[in-house]
Amino acid sequence: MSSAVSTVITGIGELATNDPARAEGGGVLGLVRDAAVVVEGARVVWVGPAVDAPAADVQVDAGGRAVIPGFVDSHSHLVFAGDRSAEFEARMTGQPYTAGGIRTTVAKTRAATDEQLTSHVARLVAEMRAQGTTSIEIKSGYGLSVHDEARSLAVARQFTEDTTFLGAHVVPADTTPEDYVDLVTGPMLTAAAPHARWIDVFCEDGAFDVDQARAILAAGSDSGLRGRLHANQLTYGGGVQLACELGLVAVDHCTFLDDDDVSALASSGTIATLLPGVEFSTRQPYPDARGLIDAGVRVALASDCNPGSCFTSSMALCIALAVREMRMSPAEALHAATATGAAALDRDDVGVLAPGKAADLVLLDAPSYVHLAYRPGVPLVAGVWQAGRPVVPR
Ligand SMILES: [Zn+2]
Repeated sequence: MSSAVSTVITGIGELATNDPARAEGGGVLGLVRDAAVVVEGARVVWVGPAVDAPAADVQVDAGGRAVIPGFVDSHSHLVFAGDRSAEFEARMTGQPYTAGGIRTTVAKTRAATDEQLTSHVARLVAEMRAQGTTSIEIKSGYGLSVHDEARSLAVARQFTEDTTFLGAHVVPADTTPEDYVDLVTGPMLTAAAPHARWIDVFCEDGAFDVDQARAILAAGSDSGLRGRLHANQLTYGGGVQLACELGLVAVDHCTFLDDDDVSALASSGTIATLLPGVEFSTRQPYPDARGLIDAGVRVALASDCNPGSCFTSSMALCIALAVREMRMSPAEALHAATATGAAALDRDDVGVLAPGKAADLVLLDAPSYVHLAYRPGVPLVAGVWQAGRPVVPR
C-alpha cells in the first residue's frame, strides 16, 4: 500500500476523461455523468460513477460542476522581456504583422538579467495555471546568441521538461542568413541542446526557408533533439510538407494550406497545431480547422503566448475562437486543447483522466465543458490540481 494521501473528488456533474475506453456513449471526450475521481499522490487511481467511488483520506465535493483534464499548451514563447503593446496598437490601426518585430523583443531579452527572465516566466506560468493550464511547452528564440539562447532554455527548464530550442526564430540584424544558420547548427545548438527536448524553426517568408529549416532540424536530430516547426502562418509554402516528410510529431500554425498540404497531414499523422489567438491578434484569416478534421487530420490547439503576435495565455479563449471562428465542436476543441495537445508533445501521461495518468484536473464553475466556448471571456476555473496537489485556489 502507498502512503501517499488520497483525495476523492465527488459530485462531478460532468467529467471529461478523454479516455478512449469510455468513448462509447461518452463521445470523443469519454464523458461520465455524476462522476468521481480518486487521486493518490501525483496520479489518478480511480475514475467512475460517484456512487461506486472508493473511500479516500480527503473528500472534495464538486457540487454538480464539471471537471476536465488540465489544458496542455503545446506552443508558447514565455522567455522574453519587454512589451510590444505599441506595435499591437499600430497593427490594430492598419499596419500589417511581419516577422521583423521579433527583433524588438530580442534587444530587451538580451538586456534582462537571468533573475528578471525567470521571474517573468514564473508570473506567466502562474497566470496560465490559474486559467487551467497544467502542462506547457516553452520555446527560446528571443536570445539569438549562443549565450542568450542557452540561458533562455535554462530558465525555461525550471518550469517544464518540454523546452524547445528556437534559435532559428529570425535572423538577427547584425549577421547574414548563411552565417546565422551556421551558428544555429553549430555552437548555438551545442550550448542549447543540454537544456532542450525539442528544436523548432520559424519557416516563413522573412524568417527561414525550407532548405534552411531542413538543415537546422537535421542538425538538431543529430544532437538528440526532436523536431517541430512553425509553418504556413503568413503565406503558402513548403513548411508543412517538410514536417510531414520528416514525420514530425506536430507542425504549428497551418493557416495557409493547399489541398496537397492537407493530404500530406492526413497521411503522415503529423498533428496540425492551430493557434487561433494569433489570427485574432493579427487580423489574419483563421486556419480551416473544420476542413482539416473532416480530412482526417489530428488537430491540437495551443496559445502561442508571445509578446508580438499573440499575448494571450488563455486556452479557454483559444477554445472559444476554435468553436466560433473555426467551426470545431466544443468537444473537438476541448479534446484538441488537452489530449491532442499532449500528443503534440508526444506525451501520454497527461491530457487524459484515467488510472495511472497524471492527476492534472480542472474544476469549472459551470455544469458543462461547453461553457468554455459558450461563456467567452468569463473566468470559469474554480480549482486546479497539478500532479495531485491543489494549486488553485492557493
Ligand atoms: Zn510560435
